[in-house]
Amino acid sequence: LKVAVTEIPIPVSYGPAFEGERVRKDDVYLECGGGKTPCCELVQIADMSEVEDGRVEVIGPDIKDVKPGSRLPLAVVVQVAGRKMQEDYEPILERQIHHLVNYAQGIMHIGQRDIAWYRIGKQAVEKGFTLEHIGKILHAKYHQDFGAIFDKCQVKIYTDEKKVNEMVPLAQKAYKTRDERIEGMTDEGTETYYSCTLCQSFAPTHVCVISPERTGLCGAYNWLDCKASFEINPTGPNQPIQKGDTLDAKLGNWKGVNDFVYKASRQSVSSYNFYSIVYDPMTTCGCCECIAAVLPMCNGVMTVNRDYTGMTPSGMKFTTLAGTIGGGNVTPGFVGHSKYNVTQRKFIAGDGGLKRLVWMPKMFKDEIRERLMKRGEEIGIPNFIDMIATEENGTTEDEIYAFLEKVGHPALTMESILG
Ligand code: SF4
Ligand code: ZN
Repeated sequence: LKVAVTEIPIPVSYGPAFEGERVRKDDVYLECGGGKTPCCELVQIADMSEVEDGRVEVIGPDIKDVKPGSRLPLAVVVQVAGRKMQEDYEPILERQIHHLVNYAQGIMHIGQRDIAWYRIGKQAVEKGFTLEHIGKILHAKYHQDFGAIFDKCQVKIYTDEKKVNEMVPLAQKAYKTRDERIEGMTDEGTETYYSCTLCQSFAPTHVCVISPERTGLCGAYNWLDCKASFEINPTGPNQPIQKGDTLDAKLGNWKGVNDFVYKASRQSVSSYNFYSIVYDPMTTCGCCECIAAVLPMCNGVMTVNRDYTGMTPSGMKFTTLAGTIGGGNVTPGFVGHSKYNVTQRKFIAGDGGLKRLVWMPKMFKDEIRERLMKRGEEIGIPNFIDMIATEENGTTEDEIYAFLEKVGHPALTMESILG
């Protein structure tokens, strides 16, 4: 039985025209996530018997229970079932939440996974928008756009603090499992990379090209996810790219990729390097999980995750960095990347690799601690993790430099990062 949903049953206008729209601070009725409250989004496959198609439950307070300007924790959990549904498709459906929710007038959505950020505007609330409508949107649009791969879908929207705090670690476990599926694959081992142009509605010249060792900068798509997405939707945003001739193996530059990017960026980007932050790095859009920046005095690189709101040694906070480089241009010295990418072997390999990393927020270090330690062993510096400064050691280049000298950080004796 196939369900055909043609209308989106919500009280506000809906469509791509509203995608880029912002909800300003003063217009916010309800805000969730964005580093202010715990938040996560998770799409998971379930048994046919567990899913009642179209059911949307709000577990915890909804709009009517809170005052204008409120904040709530939030977990958006979608269960999908069907004979053709596979675990591999979960990340693809999940990544759609971003633009699908954004299509609603007066609703702003940024990010994904456990860094998603929702703002529901006062005007939308006046028209009758409630949290339940997020579920209605997902149910209707999933059927419209992905009806071929599943039969039934139900949505649970948790705002109950205790429940959200239970859901977040479960979601993080699922993200980790997905991320690690790509472990073991190398860029050299495949002739095909994949494009992602999902973010062009926000950053029209931005094209992610995703290789096994460089996951999408939003953290939500790796090479396998793009491959699955192409199988589901052969004319969609994830196209296979034949790498073609290798123009620079160290910096990660391929003729086939450049040709694709040139066309897909509407002739605005003719070449970029996968493995460099210094020389024509990849373009960045506003979804990036992290932004790395060169710290010339330290002869190294810092990186900051979206959920860290403090100052960084680049002199900018994450939001300023994102505002500066997130428009889809090549910005030498800066690059957006996923959290997982830091511990992938090709991370800024063209500039000296992980050994260049001199600063990162403590929370980020703790989050990837296990993998960072493993990579430290691999590069022959088992205590490397302790050589990376955090905000506890300082937030200016001077402070960081002093720390690096004290711990004997390898970046200080490497060749000049700026060449
Ligand atoms: Fe795709 Fe890149 Fe946007 Fe992620 S950030 S959805 S990989 S274009
Ligand atoms: Zn984006």
